[in-house]
Amino acid sequence: METKAVLKERETTDIMITELADAHCHLDLIQDPSVISDAITAGVRTMVTNGVDTKSNVRAVELSDGRHIFAALGIDPEHAINISGEELEFNIGMIKSNAKRIVAIGEIGLDYKKAADLKAMERQRAIFEGFLDLAESLNLPVCIHSRNALDDVLSITGERNSSKVQIHFFEGNVQQAKEIERRGYMISVPPLDSGKRTKAIKEIAIDNIMAESDAPVAGSTPLAVRKSIEMIAAAKAMSFESAAEAVTLNTKRFFNLHAKAGLMRA
Ligand SMILES: [Zn+2]
Repeated sequence: METKAVLKERETTDIMITELADAHCHLDLIQDPSVISDAITAGVRTMVTNGVDTKSNVRAVELSDGRHIFAALGIDPEHAINISGEELEFNIGMIKSNAKRIVAIGEIGLDYKKAADLKAMERQRAIFEGFLDLAESLNLPVCIHSRNALDDVLSITGERNSSKVQIHFFEGNVQQAKEIERRGYMISVPPLDSGKRTKAIKEIAIDNIMAESDAPVAGSTPLAVRKSIEMIAAAKAMSFESAAEAVTLNTKRFFNLHAKAGLMRA
């Protein structure tokens, strides 16, 4: 006779693992490589790792394998404030020479909490605008970090008709979420509870939603994307499986991963 524990174990190993995609994380900051392989084994078959500065951009390219790990390169608003012109050019060069290999420019954006004064805000904006134009010219999507700055992000991306936009760690209100949906942009949901975010998720189509771990910053590992999906499923009154299927497909489609995987492995 089998014990309960054995039966339980058999049940969990027999279950078909739902394939999940982590639409935004920072794998360069994860020291133990088994954390990444464990996440893959547990179902997180796709991860988009974002660079924020020179070092993490170099690492993101190294980590990307065209199978489970895909890279986005950018200078985030915190590093944009003090980056030298020369270093910025180096990173732009890295983006251009890896344009076929990378899946997006990111993370880039505006973070008014990190900007101490008007000069810092203007510097963030100038660099952000440069990257948006670069993304359009290379036909790449953008992963945008926005803190206390979403109205400006939406007006800047609106002015230049940016087409493929992901607002990572969405923290906006219902009205902003609806504008994002109207434009065909995407919000990405982190694994952190927020009543405000739940309201926004309820008001827009599942087609405009992705799930992210933002590991190891928000979630500790990419597996935390499960929690993001649970929150999306609860808000949309969907099963975990159907929410997971929808947001995974959205992520693959948005970043054009099928074509990218082919290019990278060719
Ligand atoms: Zn991030």
